[in-house]
Parts: sequence; structure tokens; C-alpha cells
Amino acid sequence: MDETERRTELSRLITRQLLDHTVERALSYLESLPERPVGARSGVAELRESLGGPLSEGGEEAVEVVRRLADAAEPGLVASAGPRYFGFVTGGSLPVALAADWLTSAWDQNAALSVMSPALSAVEETAARWLLDLFGLPETASVGFTTGAQMASFVGLAAARHAVLARSGWEVERRGLHGAPEIRILLAEESHVTVRVALRMLGLGDETPRAVAVDAQGRMRPEALEAALSSGTGPAIVCSEAGNVNSGAFDPLAEISEICRRQGAWHHVDGAFGLWAAASPRLAPLVSGLAWADSWTTDAHKWLNVPYDCGVAIVADAEAHHAAMTSSASYLIRQEGGERGGFDWVPEASRRGRAVSVWAALAHLGRSGVAAMVEGCCDLAARFAERLGGHDGVEIVNDVVLNQVLVRFLGDAEGDSDRLTDEVTRRLQAEGTCWAGGSTWKGRRVLRLSVSNWSTTEEDIDRSADAILGIWDQVRGATP
Ligand SMILES: *Cc1c(COP(=O)(O)O)cnc(C)c1O
Repeated sequence: MDETERRTELSRLITRQLLDHTVERALSYLESLPERPVGARSGVAELRESLGGPLSEGGEEAVEVVRRLADAAEPGLVASAGPRYFGFVTGGSLPVALAADWLTSAWDQNAALSVMSPALSAVEETAARWLLDLFGLPETASVGFTTGAQMASFVGLAAARHAVLARSGWEVERRGLHGAPEIRILLAEESHVTVRVALRMLGLGDETPRAVAVDAQGRMRPEALEAALSSGTGPAIVCSEAGNVNSGAFDPLAEISEICRRQGAWHHVDGAFGLWAAASPRLAPLVSGLAWADSWTTDAHKWLNVPYDCGVAIVADAEAHHAAMTSSASYLIRQEGGERGGFDWVPEASRRGRAVSVWAALAHLGRSGVAAMVEGCCDLAARFAERLGGHDGVEIVNDVVLNQVLVRFLGDAEGDSDRLTDEVTRRLQAEGTCWAGGSTWKGRRVLRLSVSNWSTTEEDIDRSADAILGIWDQVRGATP
């Protein structure tokens, strides 16, 4: 071996040792998930000590860096990938999706153009086709893989903005919004905040949307939408929800699409997690009429259980989608044969191959595996509601139609119930058996449980319900 060969061999061994060590650390973390306290044990202030300090002058061995990073971060990690995390709407990572994500990092492909990675172009194309098939959406619809649902809504609404203005003879990509016909935006009162953020980024500020009244479960009232739309004229976009972020309720999508057609409005559906109901024959009636909408948002990092970050934007009118997102420059080489350029469908240029883990999750689960995962979470949510709702002083305030359960702990007056509910939530988060957040539903404080993780079992639900009820008994006992 000459000197160069020796150095190459050494560097190969160092990389192997580094990655082997990293796999070990990752595995020991994953194996700790079922039993570790779910909430973080250290706050940012303490972590600043262990992860902070000045930038070193000469650097540090790679394997030492990984060891120090894993040790220092450990107490500040939230076991949100584990089976008893019910916070927000989260989901973990299927092992196959995690493995595919590791490969994605090792490959380090730029998924912008097919010439940069034919493999990732083909993976995206296939994952997109599988998703349309699973959701029962038109196979001619276009798909973009974004960082999350907020950006997916940005994409869907950019396509909407393009199309509704084009119908009024206004090319928004060329002329911008100055002097453009006014766009009417109608949102359900309960719609997710990220839809408003997406609209804001499109130049349609917070005061543009009009709120449409909802029912007790948070579902848009079609007659209110009809009245709001028919009271004006000109371009209009309606945003509905498949899966309310609190209650899990579904807007009446078929009726909304029908009204939108009649009134010439674009119908965008935010289904960040709820769209997955379409993948289950049992739950699909919740989204009946889904395919009649014009654009859809969903997340893969929530209910498909792939690692962050991965959202999906789907648009029925592929031309409007393309027009809103594509760019061109002399060096942005397009291949013959219409091969997919991932960046033509999203706001980013250079981008991660985030569809790879979607491809792997779908390939592994198959159609019935996806349905089983989604239905399984809903069954567990129903079990949660049953276990908690039967207990004295505990009220399940929503109809549990999907994977979301809203729980309220009752005192003598509404104000007492708010206080007690917040106290149960606070103690639960500190206790560590499981983790869930608080929310406000119809002006009342609730504990919000979302069952979205592939690995949660009946035993996890029972253990968590016991912990919640034990804390409730303590809180109640302590109340004078
Ligand atoms: C989570 C969620 C979003 C936002 O999703 P991100 O992936 O965090 O951008 C939007 N809408 C609904 C209904 C959600 O549940």
C-alpha cells in the first residue's frame, strides 16, 4: 500500500466507525422509546449549557462530536416518535421510512431536476401516483412534495390564485397583485391557522378571508357558505377542512364542492391528517365527494408515519399548479420526454428527496396496511374515549369520528372546569407516562389527545388512561 492508498483506507474505516457508532446511538434511542418518560427532562436553558459554549478553534473528532451531541441532547428530547405521545397531531417513523430516510441522506441527491437524480424523479413520480390512487383522486392531478402541510396549502392556494385570476383575465405570476381583481376567500371559522399563513404569503392578508359559520363539531355550514358566496361576485376561493385539528370533524366536502361549482369558486381542502381517511374503505364515507375539489393538502409526516419533513400538495388542474410554481433559466436543463422536475411543483429549488420515505412506507404497507394503520389509530382513540368518558367528572366533548379525543375535567362552574383541565394537563406532562397538550374548544379548555402513531397499542392506551384518571383523582382530591 502506498501513502495515498493508506490514507484512503483510513478514511474509509473512520467513516464506517462513525456511522456504526451513530446507528448504535439511534438504535438505543429507538429501543428506549416504549419506556422512557415521554416529556423532555431538560429545558432549553440547561441544554444551552451542554450544547452551547463558544465555537472551538480547531474542531473535534467526528465520532466524539456525535457522542457528545447524542449525550447532551438526550435529556431534551421529547419521545414524540414513541407510542404514548398524543400531542398535537404527530405520528412517529415507521422503521422502513426511517431506513429510507437514512439512505436519502447518504445519497444526498438534489431532487430539483431529473438530470440531477433520475432515481429521485422516478421515486417521486411513483409515490405521487400511489398517493392519488390511495386517496381516490384523479390520476391526472399533479403532486408536489413540500416540507409540510403549511407549504402544501401555500402551493394549492397559489394554484388557486393563478386559476381564479386567470379566469378574470389577470396573469398573476407576471403582474402580481397590484391592480388585480379582488379575490374573495372563504374559510371555516375553525380552519387551521396554517391556511391563513399560506394566504398571507400569497399576498392575501389576514383580513382578506371571511369566516363561514360552523356547527357544534366545527364543520362548515353549507347554507352559510352558499349565502356568503352568492352575496358577491368575482374570483373566489373556499378552504375547507378534512379533519379538524381539535375535533377531527370533516366539513361536508361533497356539498361544498357542489356549491363551489355552481358559484365558480375554487375548493381547496386542508386534510393534513384527515385526508388519510380516504385510504380506508371503512372511513372513506367521511370524505365522500373528496375528488370533486380542486386542490388538497396533506402531510406524510403525520399519519403516514414518515420522518420530518414531508407534506403533499395535490392539484386537479396540473397546468395551474405548474404555472404557479415553475421557473426557468438557461442552465436549468430539462430532459426530453417530460420527465418530472420535482421543483416544478413546490416553492423550493434545491430540495431533499423527501418522497423516498413516502415511497418506502407505501411499498411496505401496501393498500391494506395503510388502511389498517389509520383504522387502528381510530379504534384506539375510541378506546381512549371509552376508558376516560366513563369516569366521574370527565367529559368527552367531541364526537370521536377519527383519531382525536377532546377531554374536559369538570368542576362546579365553567371557570373551575377550565382550571382543573389545565391542572390535569400540566401534571400529566410532568408525570411522563404519556404526553398530550391543552387546547380551547368552543371557548372551553380541553385536554387534546391525538392517536397517530403506528406503534401505539391497546396497552399504551390503557396505561395512559389510568395515568390520566389517577392524576384527575389527585387534582380533584386536592380541590377544596
Ligand atoms: C398539522 C396541520 C397543519 C399544518 O401542518 P404542518 O405539517 O405542521 O405544516 C395544517 N392543517 C391541519 C388540519 C393540521 O392538522
